[in-house]
Amino acid sequence: MQFDVIINTPHGLYKKTRASIVNVVSTDGQRGILPNHMPIVVSLAVGKMTIEERERETYAISGGVLFFRDNLCTILTPAIENVKDIDLDRAMRAKERAERRLAAVHDDHVDMARAQIALQRAINRINVKRDFR
Ligand code: ATP
Repeated sequence: MQFDVIINTPHGLYKKTRASIVNVVSTDGQRGILPNHMPIVVSLAVGKMTIEERERETYAISGGVLFFRDNLCTILTPAIENVKDIDLDRAMRAKERAERRLAAVHDDHVDMARAQIALQRAINRINVKRDFR
């Protein structure tokens, strides 16, 4: 059995698909969403997400919210990439940039929270890409 999955980003619809399971990292741990799951709202961490579509698809997701009800799973996220689309060099550059910003602790112009989250996104992309190989 499968259910509908809709993934939205600030750029609009990222993907509409059907799935037999969605595996996410929530802010309180791993979660698997199966057909007929009770209605639920899940706060997503920056992490890996897998969806059993026709095949298992692997994504890096930059946090967000998952909402499941009546066999419709809606995901809202600031950014998501299929592992196949992750540019590893770009993620490495983003990681270095964020690390440089975090090292400039006495610079009032650097937004530390923003740099910290950028670092998490970059590390997640790197890990998801490397684990997939
Ligand atoms: P960068 O500084 O490299 O843009 P970022 O963490 O600031 O990284 P985001 O704001 O999270 O980037 O994402 C902007 C857009 O670029 C999103 O559509 C996201 O999916 C995409 N994106 C970001 N980094 C990568 C990457 N390494 N490979 C592929 N797509 C990426």
